[in-house]
Amino acid sequence: MAKYQYKLTCNLKINPETFLAVADNLEISLPCINCQRDHRTIIFESINNNGICTPRAKCNGFLGNLISIEIITEKDKIKINYLIEFDYQPFFDLKYKVESDFKFGWARVYFFVRCSKCQTEKKIYTQENISRPRIEKCECGNVLFKDEESPFKYKATEIN
Ligand SMILES: [Zn+2]
Ligand SMILES: [Zn+2]
Repeated sequence: MAKYQYKLTCNLKINPETFLAVADNLEISLPCINCQRDHRTIIFESINNNGICTPRAKCNGFLGNLISIEIITEKDKIKINYLIEFDYQPFFDLKYKVESDFKFGWARVYFFVRCSKCQTEKKIYTQENISRPRIEKCECGNVLFKDEESPFKYKATEIN
């Protein structure tokens, strides 16, 4: 059994003054050695808690957790680095009839924004496969976030 790190980078093209915070929860596709299924949707509800492999009825838990969320504010964007550590060794997925790997990159992230016009706060999300361009507006009509392309990059590394 090896330990792996999976780094999800999310480049949000959003005005840093609109961006408030990133939510602790993350949904991401990973291979799960516990139920031996490739690209399961794993839910992390907070840092340092074990991931939940879905559907829950088919697996009693993902063998890894979300280690850290790093937020870097740049001039016209917010960069978020999620780091996950987990146990992994390649296996044969019986449903897809393939050797597990990290080629399937999918994620959904949630974050909080504040409208620059009316100061209302809102929790919004973006994910890998969604119809774009998509515009997230405040109830007052102000544009909060323009979702024009996938913000994600995925990278798996073996660490021992
Ligand atoms: Zn599982
Ligand atoms: Zn507003």
